[in-house]
Amino acid sequence: MQLNKNAEVVCGKKQIYTELVVAAHQDDIEIMCPQAIIKGYQSDVYGVVGVVCADGSGSPRSGKFATMTDEEMKKVRRLEQIKAAEIGEYSALVMLNYTSAELKDRSNPSPKNDIKEIILNYKPQTMYIHNLADKHPTHVGTAVNCVKALRELPKEARPKKLYGCEVWRCLDWLDDNEKVFFDLTGYEQLMRDVLDVYESQIAGGKEYCTAAIGRRAGNATFSASHGVDVAEHVSYGMDLTPLIEDDSIDVKAFIVSKIQKFIDDLLI
Ligand SMILES: [Zn+2]
Repeated sequence: MQLNKNAEVVCGKKQIYTELVVAAHQDDIEIMCPQAIIKGYQSDVYGVVGVVCADGSGSPRSGKFATMTDEEMKKVRRLEQIKAAEIGEYSALVMLNYTSAELKDRSNPSPKNDIKEIILNYKPQTMYIHNLADKHPTHVGTAVNCVKALRELPKEARPKKLYGCEVWRCLDWLDDNEKVFFDLTGYEQLMRDVLDVYESQIAGGKEYCTAAIGRRAGNATFSASHGVDVAEHVSYGMDLTPLIEDDSIDVKAFIVSKIQKFIDDLLI
């Protein structure tokens, strides 16, 4: 695999690469994609490749991390991400180590080219990216790079499914008929364990573990006003597969059409 010179690949114990999760930052995979982690965990059929695009240098810091330099912080976040991958039994972890500025620069082809290489190398069946309505610019930049990478590949080299996932904005607003429901019930401890390794973020005042688990519990309860809860923890996905089946669909128009549906459904 020909990746940028700063990239690092950490191999897991099994060589099954069905699920590819491409995230912007360390810990995003564990927040947005418990569904892929669960699918691959202790499975002989499914396996997760996690890709983290940013280098961690821009991370917020406080407590015992407050005085760390960007270089020191990069090392901390790298080790935290590797620990999460070990606990979650990822088949591979790819760290591309771009700066946030590089990821947000839509004219820089390097992240997109790396993602193409990764898809060609691992040949995943299902791919998970940030959702296009996320409010973090690095997340959206990363998602757009993924769609561009996929569209530059021949159709037979693309995964069968592409999902947008929740981090900085949930997908509760998405029409129920268009939500993809991922039932996470029974895996709460694993979901906690892969997020609890991010000590630098928790010390930085961000309780992502509690927040992510709370969101998934809220999704399960608030998904339907009638009937009892069937699942205890649910994450939502937006099906982005049409974007890789039909390259003529404008990416912005695609997400705007989902938001328009929300507006059309307002009850007032
Ligand atoms: Zn992030």
